[in-house]
Amino acid sequence: MDTDSYRHKGMRRALVNVLQDKGIRDPRVLAAIQAVPRHYFFEKAFLEQAYQDKAFPIGEGQTISQPYTVAFQTELLELKPTDKVLEIGTGSGYQCTVLLQLTPNVYTIEYNRPLYEKAVMYFKRHGLKPHTFHGDGSEGLPAKAPYDKIIVTAGAPGIPKTLVRQLNVGGILIIPVGDAKTQKMLRIRRLAENEYTREEFHDFKFVPLLGKSGWDTMA
Ligand code: SAM
Repeated sequence: MDTDSYRHKGMRRALVNVLQDKGIRDPRVLAAIQAVPRHYFFEKAFLEQAYQDKAFPIGEGQTISQPYTVAFQTELLELKPTDKVLEIGTGSGYQCTVLLQLTPNVYTIEYNRPLYEKAVMYFKRHGLKPHTFHGDGSEGLPAKAPYDKIIVTAGAPGIPKTLVRQLNVGGILIIPVGDAKTQKMLRIRRLAENEYTREEFHDFKFVPLLGKSGWDTMA
């Protein structure tokens, strides 16, 4: 059984301080990082790594995102407790668990079957209830649209039109866009039926978004 001791909480407090030093300001986001035991997503032997501000392999050639990246993307989402959110790229389930601290209404889709199954088991074990889906999320999850917020946790070659159409008016899409080496974090806001704004933030390095509107055409 997973345990969350004072020592773990202390390690998390230190991580939260690092994120604050790097510019994360939203107290609700910092509280969410403090609340989620990141070591639950790691083998016991890698406890130290769980609380370093680094991405880490989770198998299948994929990674659990760096805590700073998770906090930065979550902050950009401007989440309200009533928001319906779509996460593309469930991976370990860590980012999804952070989102669940801020709103109960989270949809998450993962392309890789073994990772999907592992994340579902994690959510069950911890009594968490996101809506989980297996499949290609590069064009969102139209069947459950619209969403107030959409977060993409893999690097995309562009902004799929179908994805922005799944936002409610007033909604926000956070997506890293670029080439295989680096991606710029973008925030797209849907102001009206056919009106969007686009903000650019700094560079990140994600594993590639796969699928129809991603980096491969196998779908
Ligand atoms: N959010 C994750 C976490 O907290 O662990 C990190 C995810 S990892 C950086 C990116 C994930 O996106 C991988 O698990 C990968 O399998 C998934 N992915 C890539 N292309 C996808 C697609 N088209 N649809 C859904 N998931 C995809």
